[in-house]
Amino acid sequence: MFESLSDKLDNALHVLKGHGQITEVNVAETLKEVRRALVDADVNYKIAKEFTSKVKEKALGQDVLTALKPGQMMVKLVKDELTTLMGGDAEGINLSGNPSVILMSGLQGSGKTTFSGKLANYLKTKKSKNPLLVACDVYRPAAINQLHVVGDQVGVEVFSDEGNQDPVAISKAAIAHAKANGHNVVIIDTAGRLAVDEAMMTEIANIHSAIQPQETLFVVDSMTGQDAVNTAKAFNDRLNFDGVILTKLDGDTRGGAAISIKSVVNKPIKFIGTGEKMDAIDVFYPSRMADRILG
Ligand code: GDP
Repeated sequence: MFESLSDKLDNALHVLKGHGQITEVNVAETLKEVRRALVDADVNYKIAKEFTSKVKEKALGQDVLTALKPGQMMVKLVKDELTTLMGGDAEGINLSGNPSVILMSGLQGSGKTTFSGKLANYLKTKKSKNPLLVACDVYRPAAINQLHVVGDQVGVEVFSDEGNQDPVAISKAAIAHAKANGHNVVIIDTAGRLAVDEAMMTEIANIHSAIQPQETLFVVDSMTGQDAVNTAKAFNDRLNFDGVILTKLDGDTRGGAAISIKSVVNKPIKFIGTGEKMDAIDVFYPSRMADRILG
């Protein structure tokens, strides 16, 4: 995960760590390399530039030049700033409803259905919840089947109504079914498209306003870098979602989406997907991720 970014940041900071004497010039040089590493990781140039400006400001403020171990101090400043950029403290999901309704949104192929299964499994095994999965992709029978397969794998009931073309009606019926059958969490998997399009946005916005979910989560493929960030912005403008789910981090060597998505939509990354299996889900902790990136 993020190996390419880790290597580049390590190289950038290594130069500074190796110097006998630290000068304003080599701090500036190091931060230039850090900025280059972030841009190579597919972080937007403006965000990368702001990042290094902030680190520089802090470095000068804390007198890195005269510190005992300036290299280590710079690493800590970069790590702290990365943590802040990725979201500060970890945030949980709101399970206060009865049932708590969680609406999944995102493009087709982002990993929505897989993640719905993972989340159901996580809530069942780690939080002792009794979830219900709901198939609301009314266009692709294969998607409904896929959710049934996933539900079977994790031992969670799946609510579907094949032939019904109205996702609002299906969602409402599913919530009524959950109430009648003791399910305290309802996870609604919706239809995605290959790209942001008006019909999809209207559909998900209609479901959102009809059922008023406790949590609206936006699922996105981490490997798509700045595209992921742009898609997040489009969904957030419409849905004002509560959190981001970054999938496929196991295949992402660059990490640009993880680093910059929070600062663009101002919503936390709540979970990450790290593989195809149902247990490949982790709560996202910005500080742990920053530790990992900086080795
Ligand atoms: P949806 O169209 O948004 O519902 O996406 P799917 O859940 O069908 O996922 C699309 C593909 O991505 C499938 O082949 C999944 O197995 C794969 N996938 C989903 N999440 C992950 C992940 O975290 N890591 C990896 N490597 N593959 C994933």
